[in-house]
Amino acid sequence: MDQPRIAVIGAGLMGHGIAQIFAAAGYSVSLHDPVEEALAGAPERIARVFELLGHDKAGLANISYESDFATAVEAADFVFEAAPEKLEIKADIFARLDRACKPDAVLASNTSVIPIGDIGAGVSDGGRVIGTHFWNPPFLVPLVEVVQADRTDPAIVKATMDLLIGVGKLAVHVKKDIPGFIGNRLHHALKREAIALVADGVCDAETIDAVVKSGFGARMAVLGPMEQMDLVGLDLTMDIHNVLIQHLDNAPGPHPYLAEKIANGETGMNAGKGFHDWAEEEANRLRGRLADYLVEQARAAREHA
Ligand code: NAD
Repeated sequence: MDQPRIAVIGAGLMGHGIAQIFAAAGYSVSLHDPVEEALAGAPERIARVFELLGHDKAGLANISYESDFATAVEAADFVFEAAPEKLEIKADIFARLDRACKPDAVLASNTSVIPIGDIGAGVSDGGRVIGTHFWNPPFLVPLVEVVQADRTDPAIVKATMDLLIGVGKLAVHVKKDIPGFIGNRLHHALKREAIALVADGVCDAETIDAVVKSGFGARMAVLGPMEQMDLVGLDLTMDIHNVLIQHLDNAPGPHPYLAEKIANGETGMNAGKGFHDWAEEEANRLRGRLADYLVEQARAAREHA
């Protein structure tokens, strides 16, 4: 079979990164965004990623930038949608993909939490609709959650996982189309408890971050939670759960403390204040440290591959 052609819908934070991954691996990619400035800014953003990762710049020529939706997707074998996280936008895109794409093109959404079945409800052949949840930045974080919806054809799951593994991603199979898939459910269970602990006055936000980064988080890249339970013994885990589980936050909605912060304009780094206070230099320093760390991890993974 000829090498599949890739289309990416949405040239924002995730879309430009997804396009970069496939272009660097030698695939022909067409990148679409209906917002002129977003599309115009994409080539420079993508070039910076090639530079950062030391990829051969010849790969930049593998990307075409298309302002016309139908032109962008007509020849594609795999379409990765990375448009805003709103069901009505995504559902409309998928209904249009159904009409504009080849009948056997795979239609994948990068949604973080919206069920894939809802996004692809308007596609007549639901067998080709799938979730591919990349993590930010997609060219540095290895994981992609491949989400099988009720109608997704298992052969499409395999083809999608093979494609992703072939470009160096760690693809995992999410067998049920549940909100948040796996990673965001785990991540937000932790965030729910973190917010509750701060709101209840048990500790401040600095302490939460220190406990995670210098405590159990320090070993997490090597020891996942299931491995850790096996390491300490499931009997000990049961003893701990018998005491602890009943005390964990189990509110059915977002914590009022989070709503209060937002109402006060304390929305995070971009506002200069969230759970922490952020001077601009400090926020940039942390962003820089994170990028350096992830680049280092990606290099180490390539060397050990
Ligand atoms: P973004 O705002 O950076 O990019 C979205 C892009 O979509 C913009 O360039 C915008 O111009 C474009 N767009 C707007 N309307 C569109 C339309 N009708 N058709 C096509 N494109 C349209 O957002 P992002 O952070 O790249 O998020 C994209 C998707 O990826 C969302 O579903 C998000 O939940 C998911 N995601 C985000 C992250 C993250 O950390 N930001 C991580 C994983 C998944």
